[in-house]
Amino acid sequence: MTKLDWVTRDIQELKNAGRYVPIRSLQSSQGAWVTIDGKRILNLCSNNYLGFANNPEVKKAAIDAIEKYGVGAGAVRSIAGTSEVHNRLEKKVASFKHMEACLSFQGGLLANSGTLPVLVGKDDIVFSEELNHASIIDGLRLSSSKRVVYRHLDTEDLRKQLKEHRKEGIRALIVTDGVFSMDGDIAPLPEIAELGIEHDAMVYVDDAHGEGVLGDHGRGIVNHFNLAGKVDIEMGTFSKAIGSMGGFVAGSSDLVDLLKQRARPFLFSSALNPGDAAAVLKSIELMEKDDTPIRMLWENAARLKKGLQDAGFDTGRSKTPITPVMTTDEKKTVELSKMLYQDEGLLASPIVYPTVAQGTARIRLMPSALHSAEDIKYAVDALRHSGARLGLL
Ligand SMILES: *Cc1c(COP(=O)(O)O)cnc(C)c1O
Repeated sequence: MTKLDWVTRDIQELKNAGRYVPIRSLQSSQGAWVTIDGKRILNLCSNNYLGFANNPEVKKAAIDAIEKYGVGAGAVRSIAGTSEVHNRLEKKVASFKHMEACLSFQGGLLANSGTLPVLVGKDDIVFSEELNHASIIDGLRLSSSKRVVYRHLDTEDLRKQLKEHRKEGIRALIVTDGVFSMDGDIAPLPEIAELGIEHDAMVYVDDAHGEGVLGDHGRGIVNHFNLAGKVDIEMGTFSKAIGSMGGFVAGSSDLVDLLKQRARPFLFSSALNPGDAAAVLKSIELMEKDDTPIRMLWENAARLKKGLQDAGFDTGRSKTPITPVMTTDEKKTVELSKMLYQDEGLLASPIVYPTVAQGTARIRLMPSALHSAEDIKYAVDALRHSGARLGLL
């Protein structure tokens, strides 16, 4: 017996329950095809929606910034870690989003967990959507605020909860994912924004899967719904469509000013590397200039959904390129993903409980602008063969 025997026991328990996730490593850059274990595999798992993770111009911007500023920021933002690249990036994001100001973070997770505790505290109340991302839940836990969870996409439930509980907090906040990562459905943000105004509650949207995907030139969900000025805080990530690393919060100049004084990841964790900041800046410039990759992404998404539906699969309620293939049975879903990888050379992630509710297991496919029509057909054929073998069709 040692003090750490429990670690071994926990791992064994995860394995017994079929919930232990083995970690694959890539031997190539991100792209439509990747190399794993020396094999070329069609990749329908990455959030690299627009292909910026390996875009030559984006890489060049990072390399140039590394030449000029080095690889590390050297300190937290408030001491000596703020580079002029951070400032340029934040100005660019604010103007791209049509918001007054922006603050960048080292990741989307840190943007949420750092900002939410500044917005609300123990005397305040938060109305949080049922399927919100883990980083929102973490941020709310750190805030010690009172929490009410409202039902997924259900503005009637939100209205009811606001009526019942709004007065329990001095300040109130409604927080929601913009695009839900497991289903690809979209928050009813116009109604949520109205409810925020009606009940004097700040509105915060996490647009991690909406940027580069929704709105004019990928400006995101607020632009998609024409809600400029009605959503108080837009949070996002630089690690998905933007292709690099980092996160941000956009809002009023005063809010950003306050975050610089109080957000713990800004004050207590070293700044985003200048090379990453420069890469992000370049990606946004490319998005502003040309929306061809966004149109290609949506074309591929439509092609993929149609192919799967024609083959007899249920692709759920997605309104975005995120494409769930509803397989429902947990064991068969894990088996299907294995079969797709080993026999068909297709990387497609199985999503099972507890990530999604029991009985709603699925394979989640993430098409990108980089995939060709042949790639999409290859994926549909692979799913058709393997699905038939497992009796799912
Ligand atoms: C991915 C994601 C995040 C975290 O972003 P990172 O930059 O990867 O830390 C936060 N919120 C949502 C909804 C996400 O999908």
